[in-house]
Amino acid sequence: MRIAFFSTKPYDKEAFDPLAKDMNIEIDYFGEQLTPETVSLAKGYDATCSFVNDNVDATAVKALKDYGIKAILLRCAGFDSVDLDKAKELDLPVLRVPAYSPEAVAEFAATLLLAVNRRVHTGYNRSKEFNFEIDGLRGMVLKGKTAGVIGTGRIGKATINILRGFGMNVIAYDIYQDTESDINYVSLDELFAKSDVITLHTPLTPETEHMINSETIAKMKDGVILINTARGGLINTEDLIKALEEDKFRGVGLDVCEQESEYFFEDNSHVINKDRTLQRLVSFNKVLLTGHQAFFTDESMDAIAEVTLNNLKNFVENGDLTNEVNLFLESIQG
Ligand code: NAD
Repeated sequence: MRIAFFSTKPYDKEAFDPLAKDMNIEIDYFGEQLTPETVSLAKGYDATCSFVNDNVDATAVKALKDYGIKAILLRCAGFDSVDLDKAKELDLPVLRVPAYSPEAVAEFAATLLLAVNRRVHTGYNRSKEFNFEIDGLRGMVLKGKTAGVIGTGRIGKATINILRGFGMNVIAYDIYQDTESDINYVSLDELFAKSDVITLHTPLTPETEHMINSETIAKMKDGVILINTARGGLINTEDLIKALEEDKFRGVGLDVCEQESEYFFEDNSHVINKDRTLQRLVSFNKVLLTGHQAFFTDESMDAIAEVTLNNLKNFVENGDLTNEVNLFLESIQG
């Protein structure tokens, strides 16, 4: 089996190479993202392996099918980078890694929360310049405050456990409620109205796109903390900036953003004409933006490599479609 591996970084090779050798799978690594422009690199392979910011749109999916690709492998949980309707129409399986380490992302959401609340990033920058002034760094105690968790899947649940550990009163919203759990579900409007902290853990879908916008921000408490480790498209960035200009938030912690596909995972410090919206966003002291690193732990990388390669092996050898995305969506939609 031969895989064309896109958006490769050194840490990907480190995780995938030893395992691929053991499993007799050949991988060719490309630095390019998988997009309609680069898809021809996949000619002659059995599968492609792509990451969160690749663009496997309908044109790319069609080309992959024409090249005889047997499966589109995603080395991530999110599946918004692939045109799933096209893949379904052409009977091309999209195999993902649904849960490599929910705790990795949940712990990072908590990291962002603690950091923006206590202004750790500002204190860090000040101390570099021997400025030990604490004016402007005042935070709030989280114990007794209300946290609203939107999306109570694997990562949302792991986040709830951590927030409860802080002594927070946790409320949650999900379109599919887990009735077996002890989660305190409320309506989205109630969550917006009551929460001191809001953290997003839903996939990016047509329904969740821009769920945080001027209208929903207006429903939130003044001084709320907003955390997004899910997908940038959940937040309308222009609306977020407007609200930041009105000093709506105590802090905003983002590991993802709408503009990330052009910038993330690369050093773009030399770029002159940087995206203005993104520049404006990072200019606010109350915003802490990281470059989609929430997943990035030893445990996650090992698990991602293992599940991704087994997804291909099990599909080719036994027709196993356990981690196929369209089948997953059909199963939850009934
Ligand atoms: P999951 O599938 O276990 O849970 C997602 C939850 O969202 C489900 O409970 C689902 O019912 C809910 N949901 C779906 N549509 C909704 C809607 N319209 N309104 C409210 N709830 C809705 O997924 P997960 O493993 O918890 O991951 C969540 C997301 O986190 C992923 O889709 C991915 O985009 C993102 N993620 C980010 C990183 C990172 O490094 N920053 C890493 C992994 C995953």
